Order: sequence, then structure tokens, then C-alpha cells
Amino acid sequence: MRLQQPIFERMALIGVGLIGSSIARAARAQNAVRSIVATARSPETRRRVAELGLADQVVETNVAAVDGADLVIACIPVGACGAVAKEIGPHLATGAIVSDVGSVKGSVVRDMAPHLPANVHFVPSHPVAGTEHSGPDAGFAELFIDCICILTPPAGTDAGAVERLTTLWQTLGAQVETMSPDHHDLVLAVTSHLPHLIAYTIVGTAYDLREVTRSEVLKFSAGGFRDFTRIAASDPTMWRDIFLANKDAVLEMLGTFTEDLSTVTRAIRRGDGDTLFDIFTQRRAIRRSIVPLQSNGAAANFGRPHPEAPKPPLPRPYASDQE
Ligand code: NAP
Repeated sequence: MRLQQPIFERMALIGVGLIGSSIARAARAQNAVRSIVATARSPETRRRVAELGLADQVVETNVAAVDGADLVIACIPVGACGAVAKEIGPHLATGAIVSDVGSVKGSVVRDMAPHLPANVHFVPSHPVAGTEHSGPDAGFAELFIDCICILTPPAGTDAGAVERLTTLWQTLGAQVETMSPDHHDLVLAVTSHLPHLIAYTIVGTAYDLREVTRSEVLKFSAGGFRDFTRIAASDPTMWRDIFLANKDAVLEMLGTFTEDLSTVTRAIRRGDGDTLFDIFTQRRAIRRSIVPLQSNGAAANFGRPHPEAPKPPLPRPYASDQE
């Protein structure tokens, strides 16, 4: 339901790419914030944000953006969060909520928290939603519908601030979960980071073998290879930062994955069809059980809205906005 009263008076977005621009579009659509001020690192992105009308005000600096804002969300690569927090820290309004959308939480808390004054509330967040596209044109208002948004507030964070940010994400369509940064990073290492690493790697493996396969990689890429490697089209800066920032959890999960891969490798080498059949039967059941857990449907990508795909009909809260 479109809100009668906004939750925040002035939302500052630092970084307006896929995630920042989706927040702006969804917050506008739901009247979740009274006004939006946005900034981005490059003049090109700022100009595009203004052209698209994504914010009430587009400003040149991070310091200007946070002036008078009661909500500040850094929508930038995780490796940039510390420097931005240092820059904006002295200029934040008393009582402001400061958040981010980074895909790693331990490093973001470590890098940002020391620079934030005691009179603001730090509530890190991670909307587990996205596409492989980047930039302000890539965002869309429906991105967060039925996604999970994970909040990792440090111990002792004001409960009222956590509740307000929770309400914002729920208004944008997300289901909100709260957990510790370390737990977040371990879970995401296996559900998101490892799949991206495998996708990036297998694209390279296939490309290196193009002579052997006589360019058949491209010819047959409409099949499983193309679906499986879609996420390897994701932004390299973002993923470089994620693997640097979540090194320990990713290495731990990679070790476990390598052991599991060895089991399958051994079965193939020994011609052990029974083992392969049992493994694939069990894994198919697990994969199928994932779909009912996801409210987004059974498509290969769990039915997440995608800019290139026809948009699904808007669910009720958004549809009512049109009436
Ligand atoms: P994006 O589309 O590439 O946009 C990134 C934005 O950050 C741009 O406005 C860019 O400004 C700015 N930026 C880049 N480097 C910067 C720096 N060093 N200092 C200040 N600003 C900088 O990225 P995104 O997909 O929205 O991702 C943003 C954050 O969301 C990342 O932390 C990512 O981990 C997280 N996230 C992403 C997804 C996903 O699927 N994409 C999902 C969930 C969470 P310019 O355009 O001016 O360079």
C-alpha cells in the first residue's frame, strides 16, 4: 500500500547504480520518503540521474548529499564504504540513520562504524536482490519485491532506528531478516559469492578451450552454459571488492566445495554410476525444495524481475498506486 505519510523526510543516496536507483524508484512509487537527494562519483552518472529524474536534488559531493538527511544509504562497492563514512561522518545530522547495501557485512561494519559519530544510528543492510546489470538505467522499482533484506545492526543499536529501516525495506517489498555480520557473510559466501566465482571461472575455462572446442562454446551457449554463466556478466569492481572483503568465509566454503567436487570427480573416473545417480537424485530433490522456499517462483532465476524480461504484473501494493 502506498504510504500516506513518508517514513523519512530526506533520503540521501550516495551512489546511484542498479541498487541505488532501484531504491529511489521504489521509494518514490511507495511514498516512502518525502524527498531524495542523490550523488555519484562521476559527473556522467550524476547527469544521468538528473536526466532520469531519480532524485529531487542531485548534488556534487557526498558531504552536500548528507546535509540535513535523516536517512543516508551508501549504494557503492563495499571497498569504498570506509572512505565514504570517513568523509561524511562529521557532517551527518543528529539522529540520522546511516545504512549501506553492500553484499558483505563484516568488512563494511569494520570500515564504516569507527567514522560514524555517536549521535547517529548505524544499521547496515543487504537487499539480496539484483541483476547482472549496473548503473542508474539498470534499476527498477520492483527489484526488491519478495526479496530478503538482511539487516546487521551492531549490538546496542537503537531499536527504533532498526524498526524504521525495517519498515522502509518492507515498504519497498522486501522481507527483512536480522543477523550478525559474520553469519551473513558465511551464508552469502555459499549462496551467492561461490556461485559467482564458479561462473566467472567456467567462462574463462571455456574461453581458454575455444581452440579445442572450435568456438562451439559460443554456438551452444544458448543452453545450460548461458543460463549458468549469466551472473559472470556482473560488475567486476563490485565482485573484486566482495571477494577481498569476504576472503575467509569464501575460502572456507571453497574448501568444502572442492571436497564435494572431488567426490563427483572420483565417481566419474571410476565409472561409478550408482554414486552419480544417488548424488544427482539427492541434489535434484534439494534444488526442487528450494523453489517453494522462495516466494518468487520456479524460473531458473527464481523468477526475479529482470529488465530484459517482460515485467510481471505489479503485485497489489504497487497496483493500488496506479488506481
Ligand atoms: P553499480 O550499479 O555499479 O553502481 C555503483 C555506484 O557506486 C555508482 O553510482 C558508482 O558511481 C558508485 N561508486 C563506484 N565506486 C565508487 C567509489 N570508489 N566511491 C564512491 N562511489 C563509487 O553497483 P550496484 O550493483 O548498485 O552495487 C552497489 C552495492 O550494492 C555494492 O556494494 C554491491 O555489493 C551491493 N549489491 C549489489 C547487488 C547486485 O546484484 N548488483 C545486489 C545486492 C547488493 P559512478 O557511476 O559515478 O562510478
